[in-house]
Amino acid sequence: MKEYIITNGCHYISITDTGKIIKTRDLMSATRYALEVDAHRVINSNAEKCKGYHTLLLCNNNSCKKRKIYSSDVKRILYIHANGICAICGKPLQLQEVSLDHYIPLSRGGADDIENLEVTHTSCNRIKSDLLPEELTSELMDILMYQIEKKGCHKLRWNIAKFMLKEFC
Ligand SMILES: [Zn+2]
Repeated sequence: MKEYIITNGCHYISITDTGKIIKTRDLMSATRYALEVDAHRVINSNAEKCKGYHTLLLCNNNSCKKRKIYSSDVKRILYIHANGICAICGKPLQLQEVSLDHYIPLSRGGADDIENLEVTHTSCNRIKSDLLPEELTSELMDILMYQIEKKGCHKLRWNIAKFMLKEFC
């Protein structure tokens, strides 16, 4: 199944419960349409309000796979939303290297929806894999502590432990 939204590139059309048309900057609250013709109908019957607006394919379900195929426009929108920062390592990333990660993995019951997507480096996404966000933190901590211990940097290890205690306790 496909999903379309109506946008002018920086605002999105959202239909309220009472049928009122509002413009929002929040992609998540944009009204979604399964058929492009329905989105066009909204634009055509609200020509004045929807001037300069067009339909945009949000995602396209692959018939063979369960997960949605998100359009490159969605990648770009989420990238801008994230200020070009990887959600896992916090470093800047280029639009062309964006990998979409499911914050709560699909295999762990996460929704295949844009609300559950974040932009990441491919390498960071690979590290996170099917871990829940809190599991990733503890996994990385274990790796870090073991690697430090293996290298025999006991002093550094204790400094980090002290720092962590100060920060989180
Ligand atoms: Zn990263």
